[in-house]
Amino acid sequence: MLENKDFDLIIIGGGSAAFAAVIRANELGLTTLMVNAGLPIGGTCVNVGCLPSKTLIRAAETAYHASHSNFLGIRTKGADIDFAQVIKDKKQLVKTLQKKKYLDVVSDFTNLQMINGWARFVDSNTILVNGKDTYTAIKLIIATGATTNIPNIEGLKDIGYLTNVSLFDLEEQPESITIMGAGYIGCEIAMAYNRLGTKVRIIEFTDRVLRSQTPDISEELGKYMQNEGIEILPNFRAVKFEKLGNDTIIHCKCPDNSFHKIVEQGKVLVATGIRPNTQKLGLKSIGLQLSQSGHIRVNELMETSLPNIYAAGDVVNTPAYVYTASYEGKIAVENAFTGSEQKADYSSLSWVVFTDPQVSGVGLDESQAAAQNIPFQVSKLELKDVPRAIAANDTRGFIKLIRNPETDKLIGARVIAPEGGELIHQLSMVVKHGITVKEIAQSFYPYLTLGEGIKLAAIAFGKDVSKLSCCAS
Ligand SMILES: Cc1cc2nc3c(=O)[nH]c(=O)nc-3n(C[C@H](O)[C@H](O)[C@H](O)COP(=O)(O)OP(=O)(O)OC[C@H]3O[C@@H](n4cnc5c(N)ncnc54)[C@H](O)[C@@H]3O)c2cc1C
Repeated sequence: MLENKDFDLIIIGGGSAAFAAVIRANELGLTTLMVNAGLPIGGTCVNVGCLPSKTLIRAAETAYHASHSNFLGIRTKGADIDFAQVIKDKKQLVKTLQKKKYLDVVSDFTNLQMINGWARFVDSNTILVNGKDTYTAIKLIIATGATTNIPNIEGLKDIGYLTNVSLFDLEEQPESITIMGAGYIGCEIAMAYNRLGTKVRIIEFTDRVLRSQTPDISEELGKYMQNEGIEILPNFRAVKFEKLGNDTIIHCKCPDNSFHKIVEQGKVLVATGIRPNTQKLGLKSIGLQLSQSGHIRVNELMETSLPNIYAAGDVVNTPAYVYTASYEGKIAVENAFTGSEQKADYSSLSWVVFTDPQVSGVGLDESQAAAQNIPFQVSKLELKDVPRAIAANDTRGFIKLIRNPETDKLIGARVIAPEGGELIHQLSMVVKHGITVKEIAQSFYPYLTLGEGIKLAAIAFGKDVSKLSCCAS
């Protein structure tokens, strides 16, 4: 590792955007400094986000299937859940992958120096780390991520609330938990912890779960969450928190101006969205422009308002996923040092919410198409018409395709189905490469796969699929 104070590139942050940037910088032979503080190296995804949540979701699913069968002839005996062990295993997995996928990957990067510390800009080429040492570079990338947005509500800071940073490490199982926020993080955690045996309640200030989606998706997912025993309180806005002995009293206000008091004997988890980490960077002093939401303003080249500073990942106002963060980190280095002018293109970006059934999507939904005045037509196929789902006795969900009737091209899709996230990549390719609905309908899809539902949904633009014979289109 270098012992230098003058670099080609300084990367602030040590998460997925930063790592993608550092790997590309190494390939280009750049001398690079990575400065990270707050979360351990690897950042949100491996330590407190994607990985811990997804392993707990899978563990919870195992417990669920041990006590729920879709077949009358298969009787289950239930799961013996050792919660502390589940969390210990999660911790070990995080440790292993943090080393293997982050620390080990850069261990032989001789042009890289990594330091632990908070970075703050002195000028557009210089940072001060931990208020002590200064470092300079020709170009810089800000990849400082985002943190749970803690709403400013009376008493909240005094009740010892949890976030994704603290929850996943709790070895003592909470008997109950109230989750504030029914976005994707709140819903995923609700399903996992509920299935592991914690009593879960969600309070949501809008009228439904996953409010960024159309109401049919929210209703479908909300129904299955409730069927499993999760209490969902829509239109509940928390306005005050109080501690009464061990209990937390949550005062909520509803749109009809009525007030409700919730008594939570267990934990409160805040999952009310994320806020970009821009506060400690001294960005005002160098005149770097932020958006109204506090994100760093970038163009498609990941350039900020200052010519030698780029930004990538959750700190910028683009879709906040780990794969977009990595994509942007690489683009930033590429554009900063090779002049290649690569643009971030999200027109066929697919995403997944890891509930059960999973929710996934690509491109536009019908309300977004309408808002953009794009002509659209919707085909919605219930899973009860998909042979795979029928054979599995699990017909939860639907597949929705949105096409432009003038071109027959797919402009978007939404899937809510068990393991439905696995379907969305092929739909992303369909959107990206302008494949028509007719071409989908005329393709081979193996009988009985869940993917066959996509073909059936394509056929359903023109026919009633419930009247089709097996595999005949
Ligand atoms: C519970 C949860 C589940 C998720 N699940 C998924 C999923 O399944 N799939 C998916 O694609 N995405 C998921 N995400 C989102 C994903 O984790 C993030 O989009 C991604 O990790 C962002 O990466 P990043 O590099 O931008 O930031 P981060 O990984 O957050 O890294 C930023 C780093 O910079 C540090 N830092 C901040 N300020 C400074 C400073 N001034 N000086 C030095 N260091 C600083 C931070 O502490 C942190 O270590 C999930 C997120 C959460 C919270």
